[in-house]
Amino acid sequence: MNHRHALILLILIATAVILGALSGWLWGPAMLEIEWLGHLFLNTLKMMIVPLIIAAVISGIASLGDIRKLGRIGFSTVAYYASTTAVAVVIGLIMVNLIQPGAGIDLSSATTPERILNKEPVAISDILLSMVDPNIVSAAAETRILPLIVFAILFAAALSTLGTIGRPVLAFFNGVNEAMMKMVIWLMYLAPLGIFALVASRLGKAGGGDAFFAQLSAVGWHVVTVISGLAVHFLFLLLVLIFIAKRGPEYLISMMRALLTAFGTASSSATLPLTMECVRESGVDQRAVRFVLPLGSTINMDGTALYEAAAAMFIAQAYGIDLSMGQQAIIFVTATLAAIGAAGIPEAGLVTMVIVLSAVGLPIDGIGLLLAVDWFLDRFRTAINVWGDSVGAAVISRIIQPTEESTLAAAQQRPTITDS
Ligand code: ASP
Repeated sequence: MNHRHALILLILIATAVILGALSGWLWGPAMLEIEWLGHLFLNTLKMMIVPLIIAAVISGIASLGDIRKLGRIGFSTVAYYASTTAVAVVIGLIMVNLIQPGAGIDLSSATTPERILNKEPVAISDILLSMVDPNIVSAAAETRILPLIVFAILFAAALSTLGTIGRPVLAFFNGVNEAMMKMVIWLMYLAPLGIFALVASRLGKAGGGDAFFAQLSAVGWHVVTVISGLAVHFLFLLLVLIFIAKRGPEYLISMMRALLTAFGTASSSATLPLTMECVRESGVDQRAVRFVLPLGSTINMDGTALYEAAAAMFIAQAYGIDLSMGQQAIIFVTATLAAIGAAGIPEAGLVTMVIVLSAVGLPIDGIGLLLAVDWFLDRFRTAINVWGDSVGAAVISRIIQPTEESTLAAAQQRPTITDS
């Protein structure tokens, strides 16, 4: 997409978010009439995910040339993701300890929500088990992204050892990837309308402005804690972008379309196609875009991790339970794992929070306190999840490139047979 179109689209999407919020606020449930428009946009985005991920990861990894580089990129990616997620959790814990949002909360709305009662308890081993799926077709059918990525990585690794036989297969996946990206650009033009409908109808579902305001004020300090924690983490990532990835704030402007879509859809998986296009337009190394972003959309959730830690501490404060430093350390570990295990779909973080609460023996009923505003906070944390992935792609791209430049320089200095 050219620069001018990208800018116009950004203005339209930002206007859509504002108008959507205003309409939902003023006309409340009447806005449910246009919910289908939002679903149309969301489903079109979701339709792209499986073919895009498979083609992108295969072509990205196979184009590394030497498969031994995968180890380096893979390790840097996972290390980067794990450390920024850990920073997010620490920010969440600090904010809750400073603001104390749970003090004096009315516990009458504390009940375990239906969707959590119906859920099998998730153990940490389940998160590791979810990396592979016995049936790759059913994983694709249910958009379970992690097993698809693992399959695509193994496939690409095998492909790159095949020499000439593998080349047409790689060319095929390169072609599929390009075609998918073209479709994503077309789809972007639908975004303003889709996002308007999604925001307006969700606020309508919450009962409109007055009802929503009442729900918000009941846990007002919790909302303030989470949003300000997310804002601090956003700034931290901006510093990482400037000092480690060596990119200016214009990167943030190119990513805004994806961030606002994340806000509108509350799903980092559904936003992935747009994230990939925005990162690609800003000139990040293509191999990083194709591998780092799909992986990030499912395992790197800084916003969710921060939220889970802050919410668990909020529940403890509301029930008047004092958590020791040791218990806070357990929250640190489990919130990080729960965020890795959460799917990139709306309100997934609320469900994996059971892991954090049970690890320190907090009442699961406490989730009921957060229910009414979770959809709202979800939008902010999803935008931060996508921002974390985008900064990650820029950092990894920076890590890949200097080594290649130095290898090239070394090769140029080395005397060749003809030189001697
Ligand atoms: N909605 C979030 C995402 O898609 C996950 C969550 O925190 O609920 O990234």
